Amino acid sequence: MSTNSKAWLVGGGIGSLAAAAFLLRDGSVPGENVTILEAGPIMGGSLDGAGDPAAGYSMRGGRMLTTDNYECTWDLYQSIPSLHNAGRTVFDETVEFNEQHKSHALARLVDSRRAKVPVASMGFSMRNRRELLKLSQTGEDMLASGCITDWLSPGFFETEFWYMWSTTFAFQPWHSAVEFRRYLHRFVLEFSRIETLAGVKRTIYNQYDSLVLPLQTWLTTLGVRLIADCTVTDLDHKTEDGRFMVTGIRCLRQGRSERISVNDGDFVFVQNGSMTAASSLGSMTSAPRKLTGADSGGWTLWEKLAEGRPQFGNPAAFNRCIAQSCWESFTVTLQDPAFFDQMTRFSGNQPGIGGLVTFKDSNWLMSIVLAFQPHFPNQPAGVQVFWGYSLFPDRVGNFVAKPMDECNGAEILRELCGHLRFDPETVKSANCIPCRMPYITSMFMPRVRGDRPPPVPPGSGNLAFVSQFVEIPDDVVFTVEYSVRAAQMAVYELLGIGRAIPPVTPHDKSLKAQLEALFKAFK
Ligand SMILES: Cc1cc2nc3c(=O)[nH]c(=O)nc-3n(C[C@H](O)[C@H](O)[C@H](O)COP(=O)(O)OP(=O)(O)OC[C@H]3O[C@@H](n4cnc5c(N)ncnc54)[C@H](O)[C@@H]3O)c2cc1C
Repeated sequence: MSTNSKAWLVGGGIGSLAAAAFLLRDGSVPGENVTILEAGPIMGGSLDGAGDPAAGYSMRGGRMLTTDNYECTWDLYQSIPSLHNAGRTVFDETVEFNEQHKSHALARLVDSRRAKVPVASMGFSMRNRRELLKLSQTGEDMLASGCITDWLSPGFFETEFWYMWSTTFAFQPWHSAVEFRRYLHRFVLEFSRIETLAGVKRTIYNQYDSLVLPLQTWLTTLGVRLIADCTVTDLDHKTEDGRFMVTGIRCLRQGRSERISVNDGDFVFVQNGSMTAASSLGSMTSAPRKLTGADSGGWTLWEKLAEGRPQFGNPAAFNRCIAQSCWESFTVTLQDPAFFDQMTRFSGNQPGIGGLVTFKDSNWLMSIVLAFQPHFPNQPAGVQVFWGYSLFPDRVGNFVAKPMDECNGAEILRELCGHLRFDPETVKSANCIPCRMPYITSMFMPRVRGDRPPPVPPGSGNLAFVSQFVEIPDDVVFTVEYSVRAAQMAVYELLGIGRAIPPVTPHDKSLKAQLEALFKAFK
């Protein structure tokens, strides 16, 4: 890459921010030659988190990370200065925080009697064990476009293991068997500690403040241009020596059409698809609107690029059925300590230690997480924030006679208090903001080889994809790591950078033996 070369990054999620960082750090590209074009009002994509005590805080997701995996993420954040601890990196401060606040859930599953379910046993029958071993040993070509239910019989979905694994990682029985198998291999260490979530690492604050802002600050200090409210609608291109070359970027910037020229030697990185496309927020008095891809346009660019070009993948494999990819989260802001006090007494965990509490018999399959407080840097003492989600928002609740996706924040709190048998007074000052995400598990939809392009598709001269919808052997989607790894692979390949990318750690060297030992341990 010449020093005059420019890089254009379409989308401002962690994938693009990471790609920009790799361009600067490992490709020696000057910051002023790098521009990120983001359709939304701010950078960070799915890693959002904002608010104040009066309006209420809101975040679409709360993330669990590990330090046994996430190799590329920590490789990146070892170079990004902390915003709060001078002279330290984001990696240093996160590791230190997790040494002080070790995850150890004592109330991982709660049943309909509000009893904590003993999870020393995973609840497997011999048949469940056989089937799980068989699935874990079957190659991806054999699993092909199969669902998890093609390999595991109905009883499996009633085991304690399934309730814990599926709510930790957001799997549904109809999701991809390939992806489920990859999780077994990639997160085999979590298998033995899934009931306490002991391997889970957290960021100090929500992920916008702890991961996005430090990275964005480092990039802008070095001259990277971040352009918000800019939707890329199409890419002009030519074919040169049989290679696909982008020559221009068509965009709508603050509603006005613009064309950016892409010159010889320039590169374009596109975030194709987003799990939070068409997401919508509700309030204490209104349910989130039911948006679709057509409302957000979040899939349009990939759909245009992939039309007639199978080398660019097949977005329809992922966004074809909202009924199979939708769930809802909610963020609750409290001005009164009663809820946290009662939860602490009930769960036996201080906030930040317990991780997920799942109401396993709830119709909505609801879970909540009380993070370490404050969860936002501007959160005053006396205000507390927690996050929750439900994997079946289309079902009628146990305490509210409506599907969750028709409920406002007050109704979601009523359902939650019902499961906890908490007096409604406990949340009388609460502000609950629901968030509907129609494509949140689109990455887990059954797929075949070729539905996801590699980060640099065959025949591409200057275009790469950086997202959850690229193919990376052995790694698992629905993780920050997947987007960061895609970014590192895309940048290194297009620029010809020789530095080694941290490999996916082979914790699963003898998975069969490891699983058998675990089956013995968890009778
Ligand atoms: C509820 C929830 C829970 C999660 N839990 C975890 C967890 O526990 N652990 C974990 O590791 N990960 C978790 N994740 C996943 C993680 O947050 C994502 O994998 C990651 O943030 C995806 O980043 P990305 O940059 O690839 O895509 P995104 O964050 O989706 O960003 C894509 C960006 O591109 C923009 N864009 C798209 N098209 C265009 C266009 N044409 N023009 C301009 N801009 C465009 C979009 O507006 C968006 O901002 C969770 C996510 C959610 C939502």
